[in-house]
Amino acid sequence: MSDCLFCNIVAKKIPAEILFENAAVLAFRDIRPAGPQHALVIPKAHVPGLRDSKPEDAAVLGLLVLAARDVAEQLGLGESGYRVVINQGRDGGQSVFHLHCHVIGGRPLAWPPG
Ligand code: AMP
Repeated sequence: MSDCLFCNIVAKKIPAEILFENAAVLAFRDIRPAGPQHALVIPKAHVPGLRDSKPEDAAVLGLLVLAARDVAEQLGLGESGYRVVINQGRDGGQSVFHLHCHVIGGRPLAWPPG
């Protein structure tokens, strides 16, 4: 989708600090980090959000979570821990409508989130 921010990052039309990429997913640093480490992991194919995911997206959703795990390890968060979050819709705090996992760590994270 040409008007989607994250599709434009996938297409390398908008710059991002890319951390990991394969055929299905892309990971890059969040531009407004919520912690010392904050990455986003997205499917390359446009899906607006978790609510729009279909049974046939199961494989890519699995790859997304595994990539989030690998990126957390790459950022040195494996031992200390981290949080993987998908914000869905208005009350979930979603602001970019291309499905993404946040990987946040490098400090103790409060629970429940605000
Ligand atoms: P959400 O609010 O869950 O939809 O998360 C969207 C995330 O995208 C926020 O944490 C933003 O800081 C991040 N973001 C917005 N624009 C960019 C960008 N150009 N590059 C990297 N991250 C971005």
